[in-house]
Amino acid sequence: MAVIIGLIHGDGIGPEIVNEAKKVLDAVSRKYGCDFEYENLLLGGASIDATGLPLTEETVEKAKQCAAVLMGSIGGDAKTSPWYQLPADKRPEAGLLGIRKALNLFANLRPAYLYDELKDACPLKPEMTANGFDMIIVRELTGGLYFGRRYTETVDGLRTAVDTLTYNEAEIRRIAVKAFEIAQKRRKKVTSVDKANVLDSSRLWRAVTEEVAKDYPDVTLEHMLVDNCAMQLVMNPGQFDVILTENMFGDILSDEASMTTGSIGMLSSASLNETKFGLYEPSHGSAPDIAGKNIANPIATVLSAAMMLKFSLDMDAAADDIESAVQKVLSEGYRTSDIYSEGCTRVSTSEMGSLIAERI
Ligand code: NAD
Repeated sequence: MAVIIGLIHGDGIGPEIVNEAKKVLDAVSRKYGCDFEYENLLLGGASIDATGLPLTEETVEKAKQCAAVLMGSIGGDAKTSPWYQLPADKRPEAGLLGIRKALNLFANLRPAYLYDELKDACPLKPEMTANGFDMIIVRELTGGLYFGRRYTETVDGLRTAVDTLTYNEAEIRRIAVKAFEIAQKRRKKVTSVDKANVLDSSRLWRAVTEEVAKDYPDVTLEHMLVDNCAMQLVMNPGQFDVILTENMFGDILSDEASMTTGSIGMLSSASLNETKFGLYEPSHGSAPDIAGKNIANPIATVLSAAMMLKFSLDMDAAADDIESAVQKVLSEGYRTSDIYSEGCTRVSTSEMGSLIAERI
């Protein structure tokens, strides 16, 4: 039976990088004899141009029929694109927030992996990364401070702003379950990050995480305070396997971790809901400055496709094949411009996609 994969080509470099990921998925399909059927979906600027809206009901309904959705990225140059003359709720980014909400994508996954071949791009001292690092940050995406009640009022003549950080135990449990399930597919360690020495929400987070851990005896759970975690990420990133954390801490820590890899064009991501469904996309934006030039790095999107195979389609071996193919291409010295260094072979977006696909 065909597996239906939604493709959101999106804006800027989106169409170029999604085409390369599709090339790699086609190679997987040939090798494993599986039948992928692609459903093209509109989102962001491309959707505004076609329908006047950044997200339509049709896209949401079609996405719900897919096993998973792979996306390039959306958005344009805020200074020059007419999309940014529109009210905020009609701009490309509103489409992305809308689809995450409509599909109830509460778990955001951001891996950070240091390739030996790209160690020079890592801003950390070599002794901090001697053994490399390979972690995934599992961030709660639909609760906490960003979604709590907020208001500004005058109290005793002073402007006073209030944001509230709310989590209930069900919200914590479902993201913790995701983190433990992911750890089972990796090195079986979860570091739950909180601020339990100060925050009530963190104390509940810690208690519920410990309850969930009892169902995963093969996975080790440790707790770490967020301030310590921020330090450990740059001092000893190799210690982490799965980092589990709430929305705002995850927002900050995942950006910190991704910078330590040194190359934005290599970073994949996923947003999952309670079923196997997920939306998979590179961590970077639509790079309008290089769009249409066939020079963008497609690897983040290709690795997002690998995550899709692992987490939504249970095709772990195929996902490993893609990761090994990327590794091989890098060790053979092929680089797109963003990760190019002296002595390597510079290749275009489409050449990089073909090189990876050929090694599946
Ligand atoms: P960006 O990530 O698009 O680009 C930042 C810099 O990195 C640019 O110089 C770009 O050329 C480079 N870059 C990014 N991806 C690359 C790749 N694959 N290969 C080579 N170089 C790459 O960030 P930005 O310029 O701040 O944002 C551009 C647009 O993307 C904006 O409209 C923004 O809202 C949107 N955006 C979308 C998403 C998303 O779809 N999830 C995420 C972030 C930004």
